[in-house]
Amino acid sequence: MSLKGIGASPGIALGNALVIEHKELEVKKQNIKDVDAEVKKLQDAVELSKSELEKVKEKAAKELGEAEAEIFGAHLMVLEDPEFIGAAEEKIKTDSVNADYAVQEIRDMFVSMFESMDNDYMRERAADVKDVSDRVLRHILGIKVIDLSSIEDEVILVAHDLTPSDTATMNKAKVLGFLTNIGGRTSHTAIMSRTLEIPAIVGLSNATENIKDGDFIAFNGDTGEVVVNPDDSKKEEYAKLKKEFEEEKKALEKLIGKESVTKDGKKIELAGNIGTPNDVEGLIKNDAEGVGLYRTEFLYMDSDEFPTEDKQYEAYKSVLEGMDGKPIIIRTLDIGGDKELSYFDMEKEMNPFLGYRAIRICLDRKDIFKTQLRALYRASVHGKLRIMFPMISSLEELLEAKKVCEEVKSELKSEGVDFSEDVEIGMMIEIPAAAVISDILAKHVDFFSIGTNDLIQYTCAVDRMNQKISYLYNQFNPAVLRLIKLVIENAHKAGKWAGMCGESAGDQKMIPLLLGMGLDEFSMSPISILRARHLVTNVNISDMEKLVEKVLEFGTAEEIEEYMNNFTINQ
Ligand code: PEP
Ligand code: MG
Repeated sequence: MSLKGIGASPGIALGNALVIEHKELEVKKQNIKDVDAEVKKLQDAVELSKSELEKVKEKAAKELGEAEAEIFGAHLMVLEDPEFIGAAEEKIKTDSVNADYAVQEIRDMFVSMFESMDNDYMRERAADVKDVSDRVLRHILGIKVIDLSSIEDEVILVAHDLTPSDTATMNKAKVLGFLTNIGGRTSHTAIMSRTLEIPAIVGLSNATENIKDGDFIAFNGDTGEVVVNPDDSKKEEYAKLKKEFEEEKKALEKLIGKESVTKDGKKIELAGNIGTPNDVEGLIKNDAEGVGLYRTEFLYMDSDEFPTEDKQYEAYKSVLEGMDGKPIIIRTLDIGGDKELSYFDMEKEMNPFLGYRAIRICLDRKDIFKTQLRALYRASVHGKLRIMFPMISSLEELLEAKKVCEEVKSELKSEGVDFSEDVEIGMMIEIPAAAVISDILAKHVDFFSIGTNDLIQYTCAVDRMNQKISYLYNQFNPAVLRLIKLVIENAHKAGKWAGMCGESAGDQKMIPLLLGMGLDEFSMSPISILRARHLVTNVNISDMEKLVEKVLEFGTAEEIEEYMNNFTINQ
């Protein structure tokens, strides 16, 4: 049997499945005579759960960072809340019922109360209460949970979705891959799998129904293809692919420490995209030449309130120091669209991607913007900082954002706080209007970084999340390619440099075209960097310029894509 999902993390995996089912727990109401013994049972289960959670929290903080560990802090808080456990104890005593039944009743009461609230943050708390109550219930019922931290045999994990506690506790040395029913390329499991460099496929719909524990699985994290219980020839085919993938990875490691220079001598900067300071490890391992996009919104999304100036300062400083003087582009807050903050009420909009978001929020709420800019400038003394604004659509917005930077700098100066005077200021080009007037904008920035993820959706009027029209979302659309070329030309005419941090920058079929258009900096998922260096070091810019000329003669995305599919570099 074969299944198809969304390739989330590259690599080939072959091994036995371990299906993680988060089964509904069965609880029956009983009349209890020894009420004290029942209360004790509850207290023991709570204590056991607490000590488990303390361990999970500590491990998560160490391996994934404080922000990821925060969720377990929230679970511990539920267990320490007298209104919750106290209410369960009360129920055992007054109704003479069994501990599991009492916990279940109190859980359901709290969950439905939170779920009915008109506030995303409170609705999310319902999931915490459910998760932690189930942990207590399993201890009362004596149900063994698959302990992912002590997996002994190598396995491929199959789940509806993996929870943060699953990914935090698992014994990574034994996990060969992940397969999940739900999720897209930016879901938690997908991001974690790429960071951990474990092959993964998400969005398989019914993997947990079609795969049983112990089934032999072969899958390709690039293409999203899964084969369940393959015959010998299929097995051999995947084993061969795996060998090739590993050989390629090994060969690419030889490029660590090498410069990214084309055959005809153009130096290219190959940087990485990150979401948290913990991702620096992956950048170093893959020899990134800098950070081309630090998406700071995760710092805000992983928090229960707006992160303080000091908290932000620590995060930015840690990336700047961790990268040892290499250039770091930190993007100011880019929320809105599909990225919400539980503690910041944004009105429901008809078209959130065209609405109140990113720089528009920052210019409206200067208090939020200034806190971030103060943290950024304070951190600037610890490395080579570049600040970048998202979603700029006009010159007015750019000038206003720059004015706030100047205000922050003069405030810091008057307070006697140190900051670097050499911070480059740049903006993302992800709105066609900005691309069209990029000649004007270029005079006011040090650099552009092209955000193709959004530029494609706005240029082609195609929602990047809508599966039904995804055939229209194509980076090879000639309109998109023309805009990219125009932006790079306009940057160069003004003596500025141009980079790209959208997914296209790490795409092997796009890189030759971007080189031909003169792109100076490419920022991508850290695992794509060495493959990109291999390509860069094996081509001539002059050949790539001819290639661009050739593909821009085509009128359709399909023709360009086909041409690029057949394009190979001469080595
Ligand atoms: C982009 O739009 O290309 C981009 C890099 O930003 P994000 O994916 O965070 O919207
Ligand atoms: Mg964007």
